[in-house]
Amino acid sequence: MALVDVKGVSKRFGGLTAVSDVDLTVNAGEVHCLIGPNGAGKSTLFKLIVGLYPPTKGSIFFDSVDITAERPYARVQRGMSIKMQAPSVFKELPVRQNIQIALQERLSGAERMEEEDRLLALLDLADDSGKLAGALSHGQQQWLEIGMALALQPQLLLLDEPTAGMSPEETHKTGELIKSFNAGGMTVLVVEHDMAFVRQVAQRVTVLHLGKIFARGSLEAILADEKVAEIYLGKTHAH
Ligand code: ADP
Ligand code: MG
Repeated sequence: MALVDVKGVSKRFGGLTAVSDVDLTVNAGEVHCLIGPNGAGKSTLFKLIVGLYPPTKGSIFFDSVDITAERPYARVQRGMSIKMQAPSVFKELPVRQNIQIALQERLSGAERMEEEDRLLALLDLADDSGKLAGALSHGQQQWLEIGMALALQPQLLLLDEPTAGMSPEETHKTGELIKSFNAGGMTVLVVEHDMAFVRQVAQRVTVLHLGKIFARGSLEAILADEKVAEIYLGKTHAH
């Protein structure tokens, strides 16, 4: 049932412990949100899960396999797909070609073109497929990058603040997209700051604070938790 199992993981940067003895379970089939105030350690934990940092201590399991020592590429081959916090599309290439690059390892010929069309339509980018990616709005570039992550047909989609810089409408649309991926069987782990978005998509929530697990539970339980509201007070717009 646990697709990702983080066990007793810590990450130190010099004298600073950014992530401290964290246990986190993401169950197969759920949308799990990782939230917490600015500097809580969310992005660091995300990078530990995808393999961009080795942990100082602890272990990480994917599908019951210990992947603690695996490089990001090996984790991608196991079925993880990653969208980092800063968009990293190929701005000087057309939108369609960005999707093509992401698909080319898995598909070719007519099959690939069909999948390109499907993804472009899904992301509402069909009309802009000939534009350079750098000419898209910020929100559209975020969608394009989500599309590139989806092109790998991951078992687990990992998104770090996918709605950063989006309008409320774009944010809502992103939430609906994530719910549709999840309805198709994909497990999703989202680092998020926007509580409206968390309400829209999350089934379970883990709250990080000062590098430690502060609370975890169903969306309803976390929304009703006064201690969680306190650490968020006045901080929901911080980045
Ligand atoms: P969040 O994503 O929750 O805002 P981060 O994981 O980015 O938090 O950061 C947690 C803490 O770790 C912060 O104090 C941040 O300054 C520090 N930190 C993050 N990455 C590094 C790094 N590469 N080197 C040193 N300190 C870092
Ligand atoms: Mg962050």
